[in-house]
Amino acid sequence: MSLLPAPSPAPLSRRRLLARALPVAAGLALPALVRAHAASARVVVVGGGFGGASAARYLRQYAPDVQVTLVEPAQRFFTCPFSNHVLAGLRTLDSIGHGYDGLRCAGVQVLHTRALQVDADTRTLRLEGAQALPWDRLVLSPGVDLRWDALEGYGQAAAALAPHAWKAGEQTLLLQRQLQAMRDGGTFVMVIPDNPYRCPPGPYERAALVAHYLHRHKPRSKLLLLDAKNNFSKKELFLQGWQQLYGDMIEWVGLAQDGQVVRVDAKALEVETLFGTRHRADVLNVIPPQHAGAIARSAGVCDASGWAPVRGESLESRLVPGIHVLGDAALAGPIPKSAFAASNQGRVVAAAIAAELTGQPAPTAWYANTCYSLLGPGYGISVSGVYRASAGQIVALPHAVGASALDGSAALRAAEARNGAAWYAAMSADIWGTPR
Ligand code: FAD
Repeated sequence: MSLLPAPSPAPLSRRRLLARALPVAAGLALPALVRAHAASARVVVVGGGFGGASAARYLRQYAPDVQVTLVEPAQRFFTCPFSNHVLAGLRTLDSIGHGYDGLRCAGVQVLHTRALQVDADTRTLRLEGAQALPWDRLVLSPGVDLRWDALEGYGQAAAALAPHAWKAGEQTLLLQRQLQAMRDGGTFVMVIPDNPYRCPPGPYERAALVAHYLHRHKPRSKLLLLDAKNNFSKKELFLQGWQQLYGDMIEWVGLAQDGQVVRVDAKALEVETLFGTRHRADVLNVIPPQHAGAIARSAGVCDASGWAPVRGESLESRLVPGIHVLGDAALAGPIPKSAFAASNQGRVVAAAIAAELTGQPAPTAWYANTCYSLLGPGYGISVSGVYRASAGQIVALPHAVGASALDGSAALRAAEARNGAAWYAAMSADIWGTPR
């Protein structure tokens, strides 16, 4: 194994001492000594999705002397946001793909490989290809892994027949092809997990956009949503929107109506619920339970829930010092697992690490989230929240949480659809430098 230079001994404790000895007001030029320490500091970020790419970009901005390396296997990242639009034929997959040249231009070193193992004692990260990277601070934003053991009959082989499409790319195209090949009068069955999982409103937006496609091309078809819970994000808004746009095409069956699926037969396109009801599908979309990406679980930052508990002020792991976890992989209090939130968390982590490495006071951590959902062309809804760190936890600001008005006007729904598209374009430009 070729080991890159080891981290300099105890650089952070020296910096902490310096920070106390040389208080630096935010925005002032840094003393030369502190700058020299920042220049030797190495931050490694795992995962070039919404959280990791944002953290890497903003760290370069907040602390230009710090060396930032981003580890991401994909040359091109396909976003889950707007992948439901691809299913419905409203966008191409290419239009939701992003490369990494913009991050390289911002001074981030991008390595297209997979992180295999974190060693928190020697502060090194082993990469595929037997290389190891030293780090002073490690940022993990690996997103989710699907729990292949959670639903009887639903493993990786079954996903080739009954796609999850919960990671964008090939799975999105597979489900799209199946939808296009479905007979008119067929049933599209979606299996939806209990909380927590990536993108709470995602399945319900998908139902609406699949219905949009079917309504236009196969109007005698049905959607059956089998859900392991009784409530879901923006429920009243979705139920109203589905009815207004697609009549009775979508049937939602919650936990109380025997909606929890416990067994999948992907070959037969059949599922069985907790109380033994069997449903046969023409197209079967199974979204299984999830947990944090493997690298976070093997690094020891996750607890028994399968997610990583973090400190509210900096998203530093509660279990392993020096490692920050963000995005879907983190247990970030009431913040939902969304791209908006992951990107926002990336900035918080960047600011916290930059302050630490340059000897400045820790900034106050604020978080925000807005989840837009498109129910059909020109029909958007949203839910928003603002959060802050408080005594190590993350708490929601009660007056800053809200959703679109029920019974909102057509003009309001159209404005929300435009806002959602503008959000995606702005986020793409901001993170990867690729406006859409
Ligand atoms: P990701 O964005 O998934 O990035 C994780 C990255 O880590 C991946 O690129 C992966 O390759 C990399 N990685 C994993 N393991 C390793 C490793 N060992 N080494 C190196 N790299 C690794 N959110 C919204 O805000 N708005 C929406 O409209 C929206 N729509 C959605 C629709 C769908 C259908 C779905 C499924 C999700 C949607 N989301 C939406 C949620 C959003 O996709 C996630 O919350 C967001 O991607 C989380 O960001 P992340 O950085 O945690 O993970």
